[in-house]
Amino acid sequence: MTTVAIFGAWVLTRRDGRPHVVRDRWVLVEGNRIAAVTPDRPAADETFDRPGRFVLPGLLNLHNHCFSEAIARSHTEDGRGRKGGRSIVYTVLLPLSKTALTLLSPQERLSIAQLGILQLLKGGATTVMEPFRNGLPEMFEAAEEMGLRFYGAPYLFSTADAKAGPDGRVTYAGDDGEADLAAWNALHARWEGRGEGRIRLAMSPHATDTCGPDLLRACAARARELGVPITTHLAQSDDEVATIRARHDGRSPAEYLDWLGLLAPDLLAAHCIASTDDDLRLMAARGATVLNCPRVFARAGRTAALGRFAAHGIRTLVGTDGYNMDLLGELNAASLISKIAAGRADVADSATLIDAVTGEAAAAIRRPDLGVIAPGAAADLTVVDMMHPHLQPLHDPLRGLIALANRADIAQVMVDGRILVDEGRYRHGDEARIVREGAAAVARIWDLPEARAAFEEE
Ligand SMILES: [Zn+2]
Repeated sequence: MTTVAIFGAWVLTRRDGRPHVVRDRWVLVEGNRIAAVTPDRPAADETFDRPGRFVLPGLLNLHNHCFSEAIARSHTEDGRGRKGGRSIVYTVLLPLSKTALTLLSPQERLSIAQLGILQLLKGGATTVMEPFRNGLPEMFEAAEEMGLRFYGAPYLFSTADAKAGPDGRVTYAGDDGEADLAAWNALHARWEGRGEGRIRLAMSPHATDTCGPDLLRACAARARELGVPITTHLAQSDDEVATIRARHDGRSPAEYLDWLGLLAPDLLAAHCIASTDDDLRLMAARGATVLNCPRVFARAGRTAALGRFAAHGIRTLVGTDGYNMDLLGELNAASLISKIAAGRADVADSATLIDAVTGEAAAAIRRPDLGVIAPGAAADLTVVDMMHPHLQPLHDPLRGLIALANRADIAQVMVDGRILVDEGRYRHGDEARIVREGAAAVARIWDLPEARAAFEEE
């Protein structure tokens, strides 16, 4: 069994159920498990004794979209594509990603998936939950091949064909529920447990306004039969709230999910920014988790404050959604946006934020072996180089990490005992090739006239 020893000037452990930093410790890995956290230098096959390293449990990013992020990047900032200031989910992102699946070859789709996963790994994520269209099995391929721990979440839609009218209002057509559940089951049969167990699936009905009651009930039943987590988009826009209230006897999106039995501890609900306080009280009572992705909303001028959900006693995690995919940057934004929203500085503190991508995130997917550095835990580690000039001198490593660090400071990433990133570089492939091929595949989408038309100046 291969052994690896990594020295941390600081190591993030847990004490009394909270993150706790210890000084000058060796983390010893045997095979794919953490064997010890010790002050004494252990014997190991490979030893990393570098100064100023902060050894964290591998970070969990439980809401991300590699594919639509790569398509949208640098097209959708500064309000572009937002007719009437509305969400671009149904007007731009879903139609374009759907077109892209048929336009691109499997190799091109794989290249975009690899580009995304390279970015995630270099940013320090070791576990990613990724909702994506079920015609994109290349996401699983790329995750398995590149060594990421991955919860693939192929979408299910009652109606995948969302179309925006001239006023920006979205209408829905089609009946895809049964076909999508069959496709999900086929992907589960093919991929669950691959990559020595690193590859898993989550049940992923897309959102409350694209999934009807029959499909949502069927999703919940199947997920609970298999014991897989359920994730969806919830209350991500005011239009969604209006649509659900009109369709389902005045229910809010959260009440709609509760009516169908989905609001429960196995549900990870992305965004919830258009939720009322009553909705949030209901979510807290049911034990559901909120996935907070503040930057994608900040881009649109909306406040998605982690502190608001946390204040209701809801388990709140931080993910990157389809924008930027920089988890440390997202934590920094979550801190600042929560403080602005509350008008005070002591909300969304550093310990809460690091917990949102380690211990709390692992608990939400019932993985006590993840998100923690302790003997017996999975050997997933994220190591940050705290010797950069913008991080020195360093009085408090956790506050420094959240307030001042960014993804470029990620030095090392280990998943399941394998070092995937070392000194900031991906160890098992040609980064330049992955970037070149991924970018070329995305450029093919933007060559389409309908893609450019979505961004014509109003
Ligand atoms: Zn999302």
